[in-house]
Amino acid sequence: MSKSSHGHPNVGALVRDAATNRVGVYMGKAGPFAMLRPVSGGREWQARPEDLRPEVSDHPRPADVEQLRAAHRYHLEECGTCTPDEPCDIERVLSLACEEATRPAESA
Ligand SMILES: [Zn+2]
Repeated sequence: MSKSSHGHPNVGALVRDAATNRVGVYMGKAGPFAMLRPVSGGREWQARPEDLRPEVSDHPRPADVEQLRAAHRYHLEECGTCTPDEPCDIERVLSLACEEATRPAESA
């Protein structure tokens, strides 16, 4: 897959929002904001990209993968838009992030 650009977390990465001191799963950008999803599930919130601090670097630990999966499951329960045939943008991002996080590292 394509490399992430410098200065932005990878989608699915755990980041800390310095403004609220909450840790979330980076979901991508929405306009000028970064969208973060609580690792324990719940509503996404908007953060300023400059407030994001990496909580985990490139390769997620097993615990992080679990959190990612939990966020994924939670999304499927909460989202009113997703269908099995037509996942919403966030669902696409989450399932891709789960897939990439669980794939063995190529360089290992
Ligand atoms: Zn959805």
